[in-house]
This record gives sequence, C-alpha cells and structure tokens, in this order.
Amino acid sequence: MFEAVGNLHIHTRYSDGEKWHKELAHDAARAGLDFVVVTDHNVWVQGVEGYYDFPEGRVLLLTGEEVHDPRRRPQANHFLVYGAEKEMAPFARDPQALIDATNDAGGCGFLAHPYEEDLPLFAEGGNLGWKNWEVEGYTGLEIWNYMSSFKNEVSRYLRQRSLENGLYARLRVLPLAIHPERYIVGPEPQVLARWDELLAEGRRIVAVGNSDAHGTPMHLGPITREIFPYEFLFRAVNTHVLLREPLSGDVAQDRASILGAIGRGNSWVGYDMPYPTRGFRFSGHGINKGIVGDTVRLDAGATLQVLAPTRAHIRLIHDGCVIASEPSGQNLTVTPMEPGTYRVECLLPYEGRERGWIYSNPIFLE
Ligand SMILES: [Zn+2]
Ligand SMILES: [Zn+2]
Repeated sequence: MFEAVGNLHIHTRYSDGEKWHKELAHDAARAGLDFVVVTDHNVWVQGVEGYYDFPEGRVLLLTGEEVHDPRRRPQANHFLVYGAEKEMAPFARDPQALIDATNDAGGCGFLAHPYEEDLPLFAEGGNLGWKNWEVEGYTGLEIWNYMSSFKNEVSRYLRQRSLENGLYARLRVLPLAIHPERYIVGPEPQVLARWDELLAEGRRIVAVGNSDAHGTPMHLGPITREIFPYEFLFRAVNTHVLLREPLSGDVAQDRASILGAIGRGNSWVGYDMPYPTRGFRFSGHGINKGIVGDTVRLDAGATLQVLAPTRAHIRLIHDGCVIASEPSGQNLTVTPMEPGTYRVECLLPYEGRERGWIYSNPIFLE
C-alpha cells in the first residue's frame, strides 16, 4: 500500500480565506503534505486543480466544496462535498437533497465539525454543528476539525471563568490563540460517541480529520494575529489515505484514487504535530486480509493487528467499548471473537498531558 497525506477542508479568497490556491499549495508543500482539497463555502472553483511544484515538494490540489444554507441562523449544517465535480450550492437548503445529489453525482460527503459550542466572543459566534441528524446516505463525519477544536476550547475556557465578551475576554484567550496545541486535547467526545453509535447500528460511517484553514486575522484590541497560518494547520490534523497504487502524476487518475480511498475509509485521522502519524497501520487477517476501511471475514484464527509509528497508548474499540489496550507500545494484536466494527485510537503524551494522536477508520468483521 502507498500512503498519501492530505488536508480536506481549506478556504481561499473565493470564500472567507486569506490566500489563493497556489499560495496555500506552497504552504502544504512546506508542511510535507501530498495533496489538499480546497472547500470554499458554497462555491465549486474550477480551473485550479492540478499538481503544483515547489522547491519543497509537489502537491496535488483538488477542489471540493463546503455547502450550507446561508439563510439559516446560525448557519449550521456544513457539508463537505468531494468528487461531485459540479456546483452543489443549489441544494444547500435541504440537507437530505444535498446528500442525495452528492451521491447521484458520484461524490462523497461528510458532516463538517458536527459538534460545536457557542462562542459569543465573535459576531458570528453561534455553533455551526450539525442539526439535522435524521439525514441518511452521507459518507461520514469530520471527526476532528482543528479550528473548531480551538473555537470549542476558547468557549469552554471563557465559560469556566464566567467571561463572555469584551476586550478583557479577548485578551484572556490570547494564550490559546498563540499556543492552541497546549489546550486542544483531541476530537470532541460527543462526535466520537455519535460515530460509535452510528457504527453500532451497522452503518458504515467514515471519518476524516482536517484543518478548516482560513488564515483569518483575529483582532484583540491593539493586537492583530493571524489564527492560524495555513502551514501551521497543515502540520496539525490531517487525513492519511492508503492507496493500492502510488500517485501517478495524472490528475484525473490520482483524484479518483485519493477520493476513492477517502470514500471507502481506507484512511485515518492523524494529529501530526506531536509526532508524524505516517506509517500507522491497522489490518485484519481472517479468511481474507484487509486494511483499514475493509471488510474481513472471520475464521477461527482471525487477528486484528495495529502498528503505531512510535510507542503510544493504543486502544481497540468495538461498538463504543475499549476491548483491548496497550498502555505504551508500538503493537497491539487481538483475536476478535465477535463480528462487527472495530476501530483504533492512539494517544500520545504531548505538551504535558496525553492527547489524541491517531483515529483510524474501522475494519468490519463478518
Ligand atoms: Zn464549516
Ligand atoms: Zn470550513
């Protein structure tokens, strides 16, 4: 298998980001990414896809879209569309119609930052989480959105100190804006719980993890600070995909290969700042062999095997319960007794405490 690392939730000046496509592709090359998917709000930008070459490396830039109903207050229900290859904003008013149209167009779609806290500190501070949970047919959840994690940490920090708004509150959150990595611990527990619930119902729900990079300047009285630079975020939460063929350099072929792996869940969410997650593997060995995202048929000697890139706290999760763990190691091998959905979490000490590091997509045993 060939591993490619990318970020699938990024904004440019076509919506509310600060950079153009080529500039952010350069930031991605500096951060060591292989590909990016740009997802501007309610606009599918054409004519920019392709390989961008820089002294630091080569990056494949693809375009998707983040669609929401701009008339809704707050503007919740953000939906990430990949591979539809057409403008999806006309479907924005009806989440189920948007999901169906994405699938009909041959694309895949993810509920973006599904759980958020309100943040009165900013004018548009309403939570932009997912509200219409009755929808069906979506590919998966964005289980970790680094900008949304920052927003939620700021909200909790202010709430614990009974602060809401104003210059004092803004100054108090400055340390979080300068060093988000000291405050952000992992994905929102509510999102992981919802994911486990959906998986336990037998639904194949795929996870992605992203930056939601905008490069937006934050005004804190006399201080203006960019929160956070694209390159900083591209070194944080990414989606790692496993491909059956190496990237060929042909845009159409590589787009199909990467988006196919994302849609099937041949991937994991990696927090690459504490330690690179390249090299992580989760595989199933039964009647057939499978990688993360695959279905494996159980036999008497079937095993699930985890390999972490460095020593970590590894947990194997089945229907929301930890069924095996390794407190500090690089390997975990388990003989599963029951069919069902199995996923892996790895945690790592970083900045003084244990933090979420790797969240794999499931292997389905039957
Ligand atoms: Zn969003
Ligand atoms: Zn976004």
